[in-house]
Amino acid sequence: MRLDPRAPLVLDTRELGRRPGSQRRKSFSAPAPADLGIEVLRVPEGSPVAFELRLEAVMEGVLVTGEARAALVGECVRCLEEIHDDIVADFQELFVYEDSDTATAPQDGEDDDVKRLEGDLLDLEPLLRDAVVLSLPFQPLCREDCPGLCTECGARLADDPDHRHDEPIDPRWAKLQGIGLEHDQND
Ligand SMILES: [Zn+2]
Ligand SMILES: [Zn+2]
Repeated sequence: MRLDPRAPLVLDTRELGRRPGSQRRKSFSAPAPADLGIEVLRVPEGSPVAFELRLEAVMEGVLVTGEARAALVGECVRCLEEIHDDIVADFQELFVYEDSDTATAPQDGEDDDVKRLEGDLLDLEPLLRDAVVLSLPFQPLCREDCPGLCTECGARLADDPDHRHDEPIDPRWAKLQGIGLEHDQND
């Protein structure tokens, strides 16, 4: 599958040239691809991702260093409140020239994770995906000390810190509790 030079995350390195040491800076914005992030915290599809890149020609290819900034939406894993945040994902990756015969030459297909240029084109999307996922917290929280939800009624405790139940809500539960108490006393 060849890269599409018009795809927003495909970069043309022609103007960089191949003389080692040659450098170019690139700043641009591209719409976020689908499913960027994890289920509970992700960059909304189509929202802008701002790239600040430095491209450097080296002997075996093009070294891409930079960062991507984007907005995040998600849900707090404790209270399910919507989270709005942003992310700065850093990355550095070497894209090896297609015709390079370095020691990292591909053996049989996809089991090497060496990134390759296709002609003058390189694909930023896999780079962006890895960098974003690595920068995300495993457990997104609306705030670090989010108290979560009331186990009895599901109320969001952060909204109501003094929340408590004097009486059990469910009368059947109250009955069970009574039995439990008697049982304890008999023991
Ligand atoms: Zn929360
Ligand atoms: Zn409650």
